[in-house]
Amino acid sequence: RIAFENVSVAYNGLTVLDSLNLTVNPGEIVALIGPSGSGKTTALRAVAGFVRPSKGRIMIGDRDVTNLAPYDRDIGMVVQNYALFPHMRVEENVAFGLRARHTPEEVIRTRVPEALAMVGMAAYAKRYPRELSGGQQQRVAIARAIAIRPQVLLLDEPLSALDAQIRRSMVDELARLHRELPSLTVLYVTHDQSEALTLANHIGIMRDGKLRAFGDAQSLFRYPPNRFSAEFLGRAN
Ligand code: ATP
Repeated sequence: RIAFENVSVAYNGLTVLDSLNLTVNPGEIVALIGPSGSGKTTALRAVAGFVRPSKGRIMIGDRDVTNLAPYDRDIGMVVQNYALFPHMRVEENVAFGLRARHTPEEVIRTRVPEALAMVGMAAYAKRYPRELSGGQQQRVAIARAIAIRPQVLLLDEPLSALDAQIRRSMVDELARLHRELPSLTVLYVTHDQSEALTLANHIGIMRDGKLRAFGDAQSLFRYPPNRFSAEFLGRAN
C-alpha cells in the first residue's frame, strides 16, 4: 500500500502539491492523470523520496517513510527517459540497484536473469544500451526497477518517449507483468488516458496540486464528479 496522508509539497514557497490524500491498495495500479504542471510527477517524487513534503506523511505498507532516504523505501522507479548507464551492459544496469543495496553476489546472479526474463529481455543481457531500441531500453529500465523486488513500483510516463505502436504493445506487457507480480503496488503517472484505462484499477485526476477526482475508470467516465474532470476526460457538452 502507498498512502499519502495530507501531503503538501512546495517549491520556493509555491505549493505544487496541496494536502493530497490518496491510497493505492496492495497489488493495485492507480494511474494519475491531469494537465501539465498539476503535480503528478511531484507526487511520485515524494513517494520516491526525492522531494520532502512540507506537511503530511507518506506511508508504504505500515511504514512511515516520510523521512527515509530513497534507498530505504522499498520502491522501484522508472521515468520517461530513463538513462540507463551507457557504459554498462544490460545485466550490469539491472544489477546496479541490487549492488547498491549490498545484495549478495549469488542472489544477484539469479535475480538479474529472472528480472530480464520477466520483460522479455533475457537474450540481451550482454548488450550495451546503445545497441537497444527505445522500447527495449525501457524494458531494461523496468527490469532494473523490479529486480530489487520492491513492494512499490513508481512509473512516470514510462512509455511516452516511444512511438504509438510500441507503446500499445508495452501497455500489454505491463499488464502481463502485473499479472505475474500481483502483489506489486503501482502508481502510474501518464498523459495518456487510454493507458490509464487499460492498466489502472483506479484513476486519479489532478489539477493545481489537488486530487479532483478518484474512482474506477468506468464510473469516472460515466459520472465525472465535477466539470473540470468531465472536460478533462473529453465528456463535457
Ligand atoms: P507534467 O505532466 O508536465 O509532467 P506534472 O503534473 O507532473 O506535469 P509536476 O512536474 O509535478 O507536474 O510539477 C508541478 C509544478 O511544480 C509545476 O508548476 C512545476 O513547474 C513545479 N516544479 C516541479 N519541479 C520543480 C522544481 N524542482 N523546482 C521548482 N518548481 C518545480
